[in-house]
Amino acid sequence: MPKRYDAIIIGGGHNGLVNAAYLARAGKKVLVLERRHVLGGAAVTEEIIPGFKFSVCSYVVSLLRPEIIRDLDLPRHGLEILPLDGTFTPMPSGDYLWRVNDHAKTRRELVRHSRRDAEAYDEFGKQMLQMCRFVKPLLGMVPPDPTSLHPAGLKKLMFLAKRFQALAAEDKYNLVQLMTMSAADFLDQWFETDVLKATMSASGIIGTFLGVRSPGTAYVLLHHYMGEIDGAFRAWGFSRGGTGAISNAIADAAREAGAEIRTEAPVARINTRAGRATGVVLESGEEIEAKIVSSSVDPNLTFLKMMDPRGLPDEFVEEVRRYKYRGSSGKVNLALDALPEFTCLPANGSNRHLRGAISISPSVEYMERAYDQAKYGEFSHHPYIDIVIPSLTDPSVAPPGKHVMSCFVQYAPYKLKNGNWPARREEFGDAVINTIAEFAPNLKNIIIGRQVLTPFDIEEQIGLTEGNIFQGELSLEQLFFLRPVAGWARYRTPVENLYMCGSATHPGGGIMGAPGRLAALEILKDMGAN
Ligand SMILES: Cc1cc2nc3c(=O)[nH]c(=O)nc-3n(C[C@H](O)[C@H](O)[C@H](O)COP(=O)(O)OP(=O)(O)OC[C@H]3O[C@@H](n4cnc5c(N)ncnc54)[C@H](O)[C@@H]3O)c2cc1C
Repeated sequence: MPKRYDAIIIGGGHNGLVNAAYLARAGKKVLVLERRHVLGGAAVTEEIIPGFKFSVCSYVVSLLRPEIIRDLDLPRHGLEILPLDGTFTPMPSGDYLWRVNDHAKTRRELVRHSRRDAEAYDEFGKQMLQMCRFVKPLLGMVPPDPTSLHPAGLKKLMFLAKRFQALAAEDKYNLVQLMTMSAADFLDQWFETDVLKATMSASGIIGTFLGVRSPGTAYVLLHHYMGEIDGAFRAWGFSRGGTGAISNAIADAAREAGAEIRTEAPVARINTRAGRATGVVLESGEEIEAKIVSSSVDPNLTFLKMMDPRGLPDEFVEEVRRYKYRGSSGKVNLALDALPEFTCLPANGSNRHLRGAISISPSVEYMERAYDQAKYGEFSHHPYIDIVIPSLTDPSVAPPGKHVMSCFVQYAPYKLKNGNWPARREEFGDAVINTIAEFAPNLKNIIIGRQVLTPFDIEEQIGLTEGNIFQGELSLEQLFFLRPVAGWARYRTPVENLYMCGSATHPGGGIMGAPGRLAALEILKDMGAN
């Protein structure tokens, strides 16, 4: 007799694992099927070069929901978050901007650039905190359907309207501005120091195919502000052992609750009968049945690759096809023999400025020009780069005295105008290294090995369509009750017993776990177990 499960979860990324853990804890018989040999999806640690453990894709964490950490008791399963200390931005002039997690020091540093900005910075932080407080409950909420008169949905809409009403007038204006403006324009209202605005605006473009001057990017800025470690907004950290350790901790919690997890088990098709999901077929031909199927992969894979779209409503398929991916990011992971020396701030025995993020974002014009190239189908030759050296905080990821350096890069358009990514991958890697070397000339001499990931590779290796790091852009028209498709933002799909639980659903991408948890709670409601 073939085994029959209550729930099959497609994909062992962190959201699929969270989904599995919550279902298993509710007593369901759960099977996770992961295509790769390793769990984690985009939150994965791999030893690509012997002795060097890379957080291959995602590299810092802050959005992981505290309720998930608590419910799954993740610290007991090995989760440890180490704080990331500030952001260091080298400038071509030989100067730098270095903000740290120490208010007085950051203030002195800002005064060095502009006394006015030092004053405004505190006020800005307070106002963003208000915005985060307003938006944060949305992260833990199943989006209401504004077109429905269902009492539960109406209650949520009323709750949101009341919260908005309760905001101070200034906060209301700020919120509307954040929803409509570009990151650069929004920051222009607050600050005069170009390098400060450039570095801060970078959070507005992560994972989007937009420039810092594109409307809508101010919201993405807020999205990245929202993370928390121990309750502090805007605090990013490393996971000890790389981001794969987060996925492994969740997987451990799921297994402990009874979930079965299989790797190297790619799903080829979702089986349906009379409009209901009944199970899956693996690429090997093996068929597995379940009462429900929960897909943590994106809508393109779920509905257009794993199903026959002709069996789905036409308007739904149309919306799925319209959903925007447009990958724009790449990653260069370096194994280093020593630390890079930034000419603007030589180490002189202290490497503290290398322990946080190192941001190659010297001016707003630099950022916008990086986008210009991508707009016309070329990767940025002088890209925005967000660098971290996790081995300085967590020595377990590199051999003694050596380092891993993670370089997140924008822009790398999925579709190149000239040539293709396999042929141009190393050229892209060179552009990234050359750009960093303009600020840290010793870099080229200390590289032991490198891994270059383009949007094409992110799609091939991790399964993210068009290499979009969030399973679809975090643009306003693809958020909340519109993610991924208007009318289908509540983890259910037009196919009965088929659910979605990955980053393509509310509240979106990042190592958050929220989609996996919220989907599990909805599934349990439908199964009558909640
Ligand atoms: C380069 C990069 C950098 C990033 N940086 C950060 C960061 O620093 N901080 C942050 O918070 N977020 C970051 N992100 C985003 C974040 O990592 C993702 O949003 C998140 O990890 C997605 O999790 P998920 O579980 O929803 O989906 P995924 O991680 O995409 O998991 C889906 C899983 O499904 C599997 N799969 C695919 N097809 C099949 C199939 N046919 N059968 C079975 N399994 C299948 C995949 O192998 C994968 O394991 C980054 C992402 C990338 C790509």
